[in-house]
Amino acid sequence: MTATASDVPAALHFRFFTLEVLRTRRLGHSFLRVTFGGESLADFRSGGYDQSLSLFLPPAHLEHTELPSTDEDTWFGAWRGMPDEDRPVMRSYTVREQRRTDAGVDEVDIDFVLHGDTSPASRWAGKAVTGRRIMAIGPAVAENKSVRFQPPAGTDAFLMYADETALPAAAAILERLDAGAKVKAWFEVPHADDRLDLRTPADADITWIVRDPGTGGRERAERVVEEIRAAELPAAEVPYGWLAGEAGTIRAVRRHLVQERSVDRRAVRFTGYWRLGASEEQLLAEAYAGQAASEDPTSEL
Ligand SMILES: Cc1cc2nc3c(=O)[nH]c(=O)nc-3n(C[C@H](O)[C@H](O)[C@H](O)COP(=O)(O)OP(=O)(O)OC[C@H]3O[C@@H](n4cnc5c(N)ncnc54)[C@H](O)[C@@H]3O)c2cc1C
Repeated sequence: MTATASDVPAALHFRFFTLEVLRTRRLGHSFLRVTFGGESLADFRSGGYDQSLSLFLPPAHLEHTELPSTDEDTWFGAWRGMPDEDRPVMRSYTVREQRRTDAGVDEVDIDFVLHGDTSPASRWAGKAVTGRRIMAIGPAVAENKSVRFQPPAGTDAFLMYADETALPAAAAILERLDAGAKVKAWFEVPHADDRLDLRTPADADITWIVRDPGTGGRERAERVVEEIRAAELPAAEVPYGWLAGEAGTIRAVRRHLVQERSVDRRAVRFTGYWRLGASEEQLLAEAYAGQAASEDPTSEL
């Protein structure tokens, strides 16, 4: 019998996995797909949609990630206690797809945005080669709180906004929607070549917004809101909004939907995936210090 989330204590919904790079593939100007394997993936249970996980990526001088402890009670202190220069960084990413191949190999795809080699995760991905091992805290049960896409029953239209960091999540959501589901989506990417082919059985109207190079946060957000403001939203009794990407733009889009379009604020799931000018450590530190309104420090930044 397969265990369901309600059979398993919440503390056991996530566990450590060792991920080994099997191969990489460039998907567009900014995207690199890294396909991971590894024996521990036999116990990996992605909930699909926007399922996220926490990756531990080694510093540039180390090939693999080693953590002193993966015990649920002691890993955090042991990880924090590592010398700064050797401590892997922890970063949030999306499970783009999990599958078992015909040959019985468990694989997980993660699509990394390459945004330069001064940021640890982007740098690691840009240099990823077969055989490199990293570690992750990922789902051990498919119903878990790192699947944030939770439309209520009766939802009759989906409003989606994603920037490039959330495009893997948006793509995975679109693939799993019901045939004919009404979707209006705006996807913002840095380069025309990042407008990926997306498969969906839904009736999806997608507007691509290719960002002008060199624009600051305020201009980015204004451009996105202008595009959305100019659009006719699908007629719906129970619309559901899913917004993910740069935190400032997310806030502006949410404000537009709630204040100008009268979408019920409880029906808009918004998640800051990153913030211009702040590393994930800084965002986590703020969230833990209670400075960021957040139900989950790594999610609603
Ligand atoms: C739930 C969740 C799921 C996510 N899924 C994905 C995913 O599937 N793919 C993905 O690529 N990202 C994803 N992200 C975003 C990713 O975690 C951040 O972009 C992260 O900051 C990257 O780490 P880094 O070490 O490269 O940069 P950091 O060290 O965290 O940041 C260094 C600098 O780079 C800037 N920066 C961070 N990300 C970007 C970017 N994309 N473009 C330009 N500048 C940036 C920061 O503002 C900061 O100034 C997700 C985030 C969350 C919370």
